[in-house]
Amino acid sequence: MDMGMTFAEKILAKYGGEKKVVPGQILTVKPDHLLMHDNAAPIVSKIQPELKEYGIFSKDLPVIVLDHVIPAAAEKNAVQHKQIREFVKKYKIKHFFDVGYGVCHQIIVEKGLALPGTVVLGSDSHTCSYGAIGAFSSGIDRTEAAALLLTGETWLKVPQSIKITLKGQLQRMVTAKDVILSIIGDVSASGADYCSVEFHGNVHRFSVEERFTIANMGVEMGAKNAVFPVDDVTIKYLRSIGISKSKYTSINPDDDATYDRELTYNLTMIGPVIAVPHSVDKVKPIKDVEGIEIQQCLLGTCTNGRLSDFQIAAKILKGKTVHPNVRLLILPASRKIYLDALKEGLIKTFIEAGGTVLPPGCGPCLGAHQGVLAPGERCLSTSNRNFKGRMGCNEAEIYLASPATVAMSAVHGKITDPRKEVRK
Ligand code: SF4
Repeated sequence: MDMGMTFAEKILAKYGGEKKVVPGQILTVKPDHLLMHDNAAPIVSKIQPELKEYGIFSKDLPVIVLDHVIPAAAEKNAVQHKQIREFVKKYKIKHFFDVGYGVCHQIIVEKGLALPGTVVLGSDSHTCSYGAIGAFSSGIDRTEAAALLLTGETWLKVPQSIKITLKGQLQRMVTAKDVILSIIGDVSASGADYCSVEFHGNVHRFSVEERFTIANMGVEMGAKNAVFPVDDVTIKYLRSIGISKSKYTSINPDDDATYDRELTYNLTMIGPVIAVPHSVDKVKPIKDVEGIEIQQCLLGTCTNGRLSDFQIAAKILKGKTVHPNVRLLILPASRKIYLDALKEGLIKTFIEAGGTVLPPGCGPCLGAHQGVLAPGERCLSTSNRNFKGRMGCNEAEIYLASPATVAMSAVHGKITDPRKEVRK
């Protein structure tokens, strides 16, 4: 009897023009979109002679978002941005988002450029985020992106699949970030290398924003992609951004699919956790690190810079002030989120509490500007990476946590359990 297929097998079979595929099989696929950000400049410069001769495969394929170092921090960034704008004009690129729109991954989803049942590849490792809405999305390197830009196709190896079933329900002040950090702490930073991670079980309890946080960090356990099933939550979200069901064909795994590994987590048992320096899988329960003093807090990024993240943080920060030893940086993942947060009064709450709002983009997440740390400093961040030097300084420390933990700790000046009463 023919066994069913996992999500990755099903979608790659479709894109590879096969009826049935098996893990390890190599397929040539034509993705729906190719994401690039500020790195479009070095990508395009790799293929100047070929571009002159053949042009690009399609002006609809690339999606370019300027987000990494915006507004330009140095002349070299400004020059790259200028080169990208010229490339966009010359080749009439359809999907270009200049400085101020937000982080590329958020923009792709918000603008409906990643849809259920589509394949999106990107020259950024957190491209895996669009599994939140049932797309197969994955990061590729710059050389591959350059070739894809010219030819419109690339090869992919069918990954093995891991099924993660979520049971129970989350406790108060415990968030999707605590869930994914707990899973990564368990399976390790390389535990899902080149695998497709599927989330099953009580996933209907997670909003698309929460799914985004979880899928975004799939690559932090080595996964090729991380995906949620397309359900009423997805359909409702897509409708809210103007995309009706007739615009996409979702692909969900078969019930009798075969998995390389199956893991189950009880959400009720998960508490607030922290990834301590200098690895994302060094995950500890908050009680083990409580009281550690911090000098900077970062609330935002493509992992946790959405409205629901700001809502929970604002609830904690309302009427409070950030500890005098702490700089609190707020980084909305997109202009739309920034505007929504303004409308709801969340930004006012952050500013009144002493926070500094940065323009929608990557900001200090990659250590290029806007909040670089000094030696000996500690930052508590809602971002997704904490290796040495990530925030611009090799002798600084980065701790990763949920928006609730970051907001509560910003008030106290030290790592604090968000389930505690807020300091008056
Ligand atoms: Fe990468 Fe950080 Fe930007 Fe996300 S916010 S795309 S992790 S640099």
